[in-house]
Amino acid sequence: MKKLFVKTYGCQMNAYDSAKMADLLAPLGYATTDVPDGADMVILNTCHIREKAAEKVYSELGRLKTLKADKAKSGGRMLLAVAGCVAQAEGAEIVARQPAVDLVVGPQSYHRLPEMIARAFLTVQEGCDKFCTFCVVPYTRGSEHSRTPEAILREARQLADKGAREIVLLGQNVNAYESNGWSLAKLCAGLAEIEGIARIRYTTSHPRDMGDDLIAAHGGNAKLMPYLHLPVQSGSDTVLEAMNRGHGGDDYRRLIARIRNQRPDIALTSDFIVGFPGESDADFEATLQLVRDIGYATAFSFKYSKRPGTPASTMRKQISEDVKAARLAVLQKLLLEQQYAFDDSQIGKRLPVLFEKVAREPGQIMGRTPYLQPVHVQADAAWIGQVAEVQIERRTANSLHGALVQGQSA
Ligand code: SAM
Ligand code: SF4
Repeated sequence: MKKLFVKTYGCQMNAYDSAKMADLLAPLGYATTDVPDGADMVILNTCHIREKAAEKVYSELGRLKTLKADKAKSGGRMLLAVAGCVAQAEGAEIVARQPAVDLVVGPQSYHRLPEMIARAFLTVQEGCDKFCTFCVVPYTRGSEHSRTPEAILREARQLADKGAREIVLLGQNVNAYESNGWSLAKLCAGLAEIEGIARIRYTTSHPRDMGDDLIAAHGGNAKLMPYLHLPVQSGSDTVLEAMNRGHGGDDYRRLIARIRNQRPDIALTSDFIVGFPGESDADFEATLQLVRDIGYATAFSFKYSKRPGTPASTMRKQISEDVKAARLAVLQKLLLEQQYAFDDSQIGKRLPVLFEKVAREPGQIMGRTPYLQPVHVQADAAWIGQVAEVQIERRTANSLHGALVQGQSA
């Protein structure tokens, strides 16, 4: 069992919420303890009613930071969370003032606590050297930089010890990851060896950085989920050139064919920009054709908007808002049809689902398929944080629904 210490400030309502948080975390193996020393997780459930409440929380966090450092010295990890009204009022400001804090969770989000723990986001790469002409990231985030594999693997082991079953590797250009000769594929292989980690994902990737070993990993690394977010932005070679993407439409089609060769069932997603300066009707049609050719599981699509300081913002032939809106509606209709078709193709299948949280409907829990689709199932909350086989039965607008395959125990 892992030790959970909850310090409750203020009213009876907060005491009730603290008990609720402890209940939510029990399925992840957390049992409450009376002292913060040596705890695996500490939650400060704060209250705003008294004067200087926030200051008191910050001084308590200062003390806990020392305990957290002690735990780290002995090779362990203490998750530090701030909940309650101060979390609500101060939000991300808390982490800015006290970086030892791992989670800030307001009263409306307690049900998301297990999800925040079961699925860990791990930043491995930052910055971008690509300079797409529409994008501010290279100016605001600086050039590409990768963390060392040692630091990442250490953190991943600690997250797994805390109950994380899924690791999502994050980076602006995550597949450009490179450190001491380690590629993203090698990093995923290292992570796959960590006991407790059942699933690995990474986001966001650039088509130019999709190396041979990473493509091969989608066929060979069983923990690497069959899901890939690979933004293409446009299907027109003229527009892609003006965007400085460094690839054409057919380069992308060939790349997808190679990835599907390794993992035929992979769920593909993308980002699209419509109404980039100079985009003609024929250019837009080329985007629709690319979408039809690829077949996406889901995708994000945006109207081009000027970002000050970027080359595209001063290009001639800016597109009117009306045209952008009309094109976006056509593209989104096509993408939604593809999303429903992909979701429907899972009906009747048996899929492993990682359960994340209690759903809104009483008695239901929610989890995700390997393809990241949400699934709702009538099942005990003890399944949260675990993977179980689910028979997929039907789809509603935003989710799949199914039943636990009999004979499994939480
Ligand atoms: N590095 C990632 C890549 O290359 O795909 C994406 C990072 S970017 C912050 C996320 C998405 O926002 C982009 O893929 C693009 O579709 C969209 N985006 C960025 N700048 C935009 C702009 N000026 N107008 C509209 N959409 C934009
Ligand atoms: Fe870099 Fe992505 Fe922005 Fe292009 S869209 S500049 S690859 S962050």
